[in-house]
Amino acid sequence: MSKEDLECSFCGRKKSETNLLIAGLDAHICDRCIEQAHGIVVEEALHSGNTELSKDLMLKKPKLIKAFLDEYVIGQEFTKKVMSVAVYNHYKRLLQPKSDDDIEIQKSNIIIVGQTGTGKTLIAKTIARMLNVPLAIVDATVLTEAGYVGEDVESILTRLLQAADYNLEKAENGIVFIDEIDKIARKSDNPSITRDVSGEGVQQALLKLLEGTTVNVPPKGGRKHPDQKFIEVNTENILFIAGGAFDGIERHISKRLNMQAVGFSASLKENQMEKDNMLRYIIPKDLKDFGLIPEIIGRLPVLTYMNPLDKETLRAILTEPKNAIIKQYRKLFEMDGIEFVITEEALDFIVEQAIDYKLGARGLRSLCEAVLTDAMYEMPGTDEKTIHVTKEYAEEKLNKSTLKKLKAVS
Ligand code: ADP
Repeated sequence: MSKEDLECSFCGRKKSETNLLIAGLDAHICDRCIEQAHGIVVEEALHSGNTELSKDLMLKKPKLIKAFLDEYVIGQEFTKKVMSVAVYNHYKRLLQPKSDDDIEIQKSNIIIVGQTGTGKTLIAKTIARMLNVPLAIVDATVLTEAGYVGEDVESILTRLLQAADYNLEKAENGIVFIDEIDKIARKSDNPSITRDVSGEGVQQALLKLLEGTTVNVPPKGGRKHPDQKFIEVNTENILFIAGGAFDGIERHISKRLNMQAVGFSASLKENQMEKDNMLRYIIPKDLKDFGLIPEIIGRLPVLTYMNPLDKETLRAILTEPKNAIIKQYRKLFEMDGIEFVITEEALDFIVEQAIDYKLGARGLRSLCEAVLTDAMYEMPGTDEKTIHVTKEYAEEKLNKSTLKKLKAVS
């Protein structure tokens, strides 16, 4: 048989139709069949409860997790590392054989402090995608204590169930990202001031969920209702990631550092505490001073921070991630047979505008949209086969766009 005639013994694809064909003693297998077979082995291992086998198959080592994050998230090295370890430990905990010894590994729920638009949600999404587990993204601001107007904390689990297509087992191994956790901070240091509907009460309600408990969840959401059927969800293996901007927490950090630094030389203080990155020095006590109750902080033991996005990072976000915005537009144009060319100057210009408009990374997308909408409207179906975006072109389109008004306001 000539090399070209070789085919996969499992699916019959010709060598030319595969990316890789591996030869065995008497047979061949292609890359697709290997992946499929691997999937079957993992499924089987999980269902059979063969922890030795599943340990080997399931556990992506921290360095691999970080490498995956690197493909999607630019910068934020510290957080990517810390989260890789936390996620690794979380899944090690899940695979730990019961009654091994008396050492019970505790949950490694995570809290990320950082300005909005720095990639907190993106990291959570990327981890869920890599692990192929359902992810629910919820906003802490809509949560209220049971009995008040708003959503009960159980609604978090309704979302997770929905994300898992109501597959309870999947949901119970999923990830919940609670955004804007800082908004449920206690408003005052005096706990008895008045009832704080959306603050401390919600923190209290979240405690059990974070720690691991069984909750009756209304599958369709909404208020608990006596006639409604509930689904019992166990939160013990759910990884919770909380995120928040914690505006003003820098003050608590610097106050603490200043107190610690009494007796040190002034220059040391100045060197260490560049204004832009105070969050680097954050410790759990700062969260407490901000208004999170100690019990919540204790149940979010992995504390990390995001760096603000500087010009270089924004520029890289435009073009480098696996699904970078520019790559997406290139693909969209390609589908119409149009080649998309954008100059370095045009890219720099878009980044400068994002900084000017104070829109952060989220603004990059709106800016690109404003620059490219005309072309995406006009070009398909015409004979033009190339779009060449220069700085002048981008400037002209942006001047016409409504985004311009935004700048006037800010
Ligand atoms: P946050 O949750 O911190 O408010 P997001 O994760 O929602 O921010 O980020 C908003 C958008 O900005 C994301 O969709 C992503 O495209 C982009 N982005 C932000 N930070 C990064 C980063 N570090 N790397 C790549 N893209 C980023």
